[in-house]
Amino acid sequence: MFVAQHPAEAHLLKGVLDSAGIESEIRHEALFGASGGVPVNEARPEIWVVDDERAAEAAALLRQQLPTGLEAGRPWRCASCGETVEAQFTACWKCGADAPL
Ligand SMILES: [Zn+2]
Repeated sequence: MFVAQHPAEAHLLKGVLDSAGIESEIRHEALFGASGGVPVNEARPEIWVVDDERAAEAAALLRQQLPTGLEAGRPWRCASCGETVEAQFTACWKCGADAPL
């Protein structure tokens, strides 16, 4: 199960799975609305992969699709030396290691 940030993203990601031949469905707000407590506009759409055996494959695909953008604007941590590096750098200023994807 993958939780998207907003409905447009959910549909985009479902399209990615469709084109890879992985069947999926989008489930969302209604469930939250019915449970009470959580305002519908705060619910996030969920993408469910119909075939469990392809869930891992689907997750990998979705991860590739997520714009590095998800993390854009945030500092990242160098896997090599542990230094915190500002988002605009694509390599660690300290040791030169590439930014994680
Ligand atoms: Zn480093």
